Amino acid sequence: MSEQDGVSRRSVLLGAGAAAGALGLGGSRLTSLSVDPAAASVEQFLDRNDVLHGYCSPNCRGKCQMDVYVRDGQIRKVEPKVPDNPDYKRSCTLGLSHMQRAYNPTRLKYPMKRTDWSPGDPNPTGRGPDAEFERIEWDEALDYVADEMLRVREEYSPESVYFELGSGTDGIGATVYNRLAGAFGGTMKAWSIDINVGLGFRRVTGAGYFNTPTNQATDIENANTIVIWGGNIFESRFQMDASKVLDAKQNGAKIVVVDPVYNTTTAKADVWLPIEPGKDGHLAMAMIYTVFEEDYLDEQFLRERTLGPALVREDGSLLKTADVFDDGDDETPVALDEASGEPVALEPETYGEYALFGEYEVDGETVTTGLTEIREAAADYAPEEMAEYVGVDAENIRQTVRWLGTRGPGGILTGLGVDRYVYGHIFGQAYAILLALLGQYGMSGCVTGGLTQGGGFTSDYGAVEGAPGSRSLQQKGILSAMAGDDEKPIKAMYAMASNFTANQMPDRQAWLDALENVDMVAVADMQHTPNVQHADVVLPASHWFEREDVTGSWTQPHVRYREPAHEPLWESKSDHWMLVRLAERLGYGEHFDRDRETTLQKVLDAEDRFTLEDLREKGTFFDDSAPEIIWQGEFNTPSGRLELYDEDAPSEDGTSLEVPVPMESRTSPDYELADEYPLTFLQKHSRWRIHSQFGRMPYLRQIETEPVVDIHPSDAEERDIEDGEYVRIYNDRGELVVKARYNEGYRPGMVNVNQGWWGEDYIRGHHNDLTHTDVSDAIENFAFYDTRVEVEPAPDDIDTSQYTDPDRAPWLGGSNGGGDN
Ligand code: SF4
Repeated sequence: MSEQDGVSRRSVLLGAGAAAGALGLGGSRLTSLSVDPAAASVEQFLDRNDVLHGYCSPNCRGKCQMDVYVRDGQIRKVEPKVPDNPDYKRSCTLGLSHMQRAYNPTRLKYPMKRTDWSPGDPNPTGRGPDAEFERIEWDEALDYVADEMLRVREEYSPESVYFELGSGTDGIGATVYNRLAGAFGGTMKAWSIDINVGLGFRRVTGAGYFNTPTNQATDIENANTIVIWGGNIFESRFQMDASKVLDAKQNGAKIVVVDPVYNTTTAKADVWLPIEPGKDGHLAMAMIYTVFEEDYLDEQFLRERTLGPALVREDGSLLKTADVFDDGDDETPVALDEASGEPVALEPETYGEYALFGEYEVDGETVTTGLTEIREAAADYAPEEMAEYVGVDAENIRQTVRWLGTRGPGGILTGLGVDRYVYGHIFGQAYAILLALLGQYGMSGCVTGGLTQGGGFTSDYGAVEGAPGSRSLQQKGILSAMAGDDEKPIKAMYAMASNFTANQMPDRQAWLDALENVDMVAVADMQHTPNVQHADVVLPASHWFEREDVTGSWTQPHVRYREPAHEPLWESKSDHWMLVRLAERLGYGEHFDRDRETTLQKVLDAEDRFTLEDLREKGTFFDDSAPEIIWQGEFNTPSGRLELYDEDAPSEDGTSLEVPVPMESRTSPDYELADEYPLTFLQKHSRWRIHSQFGRMPYLRQIETEPVVDIHPSDAEERDIEDGEYVRIYNDRGELVVKARYNEGYRPGMVNVNQGWWGEDYIRGHHNDLTHTDVSDAIENFAFYDTRVEVEPAPDDIDTSQYTDPDRAPWLGGSNGGGDN
C-alpha cells in the first residue's frame, strides 16, 4: 500500500497528478470546477463509470451510504446507496453535493504556517482575519507541531496540550486521534452541547446523554400518536425519522408538534403547540396535570415498573427495607401493600397491589408515595392556568394528552431545541415521567425520545497499553484552561476537523481572547475555516471520498464503508497519515502503523461478524444486534425501576428537584435585562448546512445566499424595519449585522439567525458574539437559545457587496463550479 493511504486497488483510479490534471488543477489554486456541462447527460454515465462505496459523515445523524460514480479519475455523480437493510436508504442535498466539496476552491492545498508565528515567538494577536500564511513542507509542519507539544509538556504538563477533536469527520482518523491523545496524556473535551435533556431524562430512566433513546427508527411507523418536541425533523432528520413519521401518519397516527416556529415539520401536524421559547418544562407539567385529572394513568405499569408507589418520608428521602425489616438493606425502596396495609419491598419488574396515592403511617413515620409527590408538584400547572404563559391553547394541551393516553403506543420524539436552554434538563425529567405515567415504555410503537438505535462494530483498538490516558474537561473547563485559569493551562492545541473555537462556541469572543494564551495552534481540516484562520500551523486534510474508512452510526444500525475515489488532491493527506507521523515524532511510533490498511484491519480485528474484505465487497453491514424495541426488562437505575421520584436529585438555585420544578433563565419575563433586550434569539439549524460544514457549496449557496434574521412583521414594524432591510442585532455581549426577513412563522418576541455561518459571511459581528457560556448548577451544557437581544436598523455605512459582487460571491450567476472565495 502506498504512502498515499493506499488507493492502488482500483486500476481505474488515477494518481494525484492525473486527477488534478483532469480537473484542471495544475496550478496552485483551483479556480473553477472544470465539469463539462455535457457530463451531466445520461450517456456520460452509461457503462463508463466505476461505482464506488461511499458514505457521508458530517456531524449529522445520517452517515448516509452513497454510490460514488467515478469516471476518468473524477467524481461525477453521487447517489444514495441501498444499504443492507433497504429501509435505511436515504441522503440529502448536502450529501449529493459532495462533488462540489471534494473539488471546492476553498479546500486547503498545502501545509502552511502563519507568517508571523514561530516557536518561542507566537505573536498570538496576529491570528484572525488579517493573518497571512506561507506554504511549508509536510516535514516542517509536523516538526513544528511535535516540537511545540514536547516543549509544552516539558515546561507545563502533558495536559497542557489540548487534542481538540471536532465533529467534521469520523472513522479511523478519530480512533487514531483518541489513541494518540491518550498515549501523550493530553487534554480532551467532554461534550457539553445538547446533553441537557438527555441527562435529565437519564435521572428517571437510567439512560440518555446526547439526546434520549427510543426504539429503532423502523418502529416509528407503529406509533399511534407522535409528539415532535423541539425539532424541525423534516429539515434536520430526514435521513430516517421524518420519513417514518410520515409512514405513521399514513397509518393513522396523530402528529402533534411543539415548536415556537411554524416550519416544515409543523406543517405536517394535526395539532401545533406554538410554545413560547423556554417554557417546555411548564408545558410538560401541564400535561402531567392533565394525566392525573383526566385519569390516563397506566396503573399496572406504574406498580410493576416505576417508583410511583415508593414511600417517601417527610424529609424527602425514600423509605428503605432496612428501615422496616430486620433483614432489609439501604437500597431497596418500600411500597405499601393495599390489601394488608403492610410495607413490602419494591423489587424491579414485580407487580403488587401497591398503594399509588395517599398518606400513611409506617413504623411511626408519616409517608406519602412518589406519585402523590408528583401529583402535588403538578397541581399548579393546570392547562387553563398555563395556557397564556406557555402560549398554547389549553384544549390543545388536553387533546395531546388524550391522544397519548387513549390511542395506544406512542410518545414524544425529541429534537435538540430544548437542550439549548439552561434548565432544559428539567424538561427531560418531566417528560420521562409523563411517559411513565402513561406506560409508554417497552412496546412497539412507543416513542421515548430522539435517538433511534444505531449500530457499530466491536473493536479493541483503543488505548495504548500502559498509557496515561487523557484528561477530560467539560467545554467550559477547556475555555478556563485556555484562558490560563487552571493549574494545568492549555498552551498548545491540535484541532482536527474542528471549527469550534473560532465559530461554533457560545461567547465566541471569550474563546478568541483565551486563544491568545496558547502558544501553538495547529488545525487539520479540509477547508479554510475560521478555525484555520486562527491557526499557526495549517494541515490540509483530504476529502472523505479520498480515504478508505469504516464507521458505525448512532441512529441507524449499519456499519458503513467507503473506498477512495482517487488520491488526495494537492498535498492534502488523511488525518490518519498526519497523526501516525506526528506520533512517530512524539516517540509513540511503535504503537501506530503507517499503513492505513493495517490500522483498518486492527480496528476490525475483534469483530467476528464480518471482515474488511466483506465490507469492501458489499460496502455495508446491517447490525442486527441493535434492539428494535428498548426498555424491556429492568431499567438501568439503582432501583431497576423508572425513578419517578428522584431521591438523589440535584438542586438548581437552592431548589431540590426530586420532582420536576420548571425553571427559566433568560427567557423568563423576570430576567433582569428582559426590558432592555426583549427578543429571544434562536440559531436553529439550516437544511443547507450541517453546523458550519457545506457552507461553501455553490449549489447550496445559490439557495441560501447570505445570513438573514427571521423576524415577525409586528416586531419589525415596531422598530421601523422593512422586509429586506439590513439590521443590527445586539445585546450586552456583542452585535451582528444581517438582512431582516419578515417571517410570520415565528412568534412575535423571538428572532432567528440560522447557525453555522462563518464569521466572514457576516458584514459585522457573529451570531455567537451574542451567546454566553452560563450553565446550570446540575449540568455543564451550553444554552445557545437562552439568549436575549434587541434589533434596530443597521447603520447607513454598511457594505453589503460581499453578497452581490460575483468576485466575492462566485456562486452567483448560476455557476455550479464556483470560483475562489
Ligand atoms: S448531510 Fe447527513 S443526511 Fe445529508 S447525506 Fe450527509 S449524512 Fe446524509
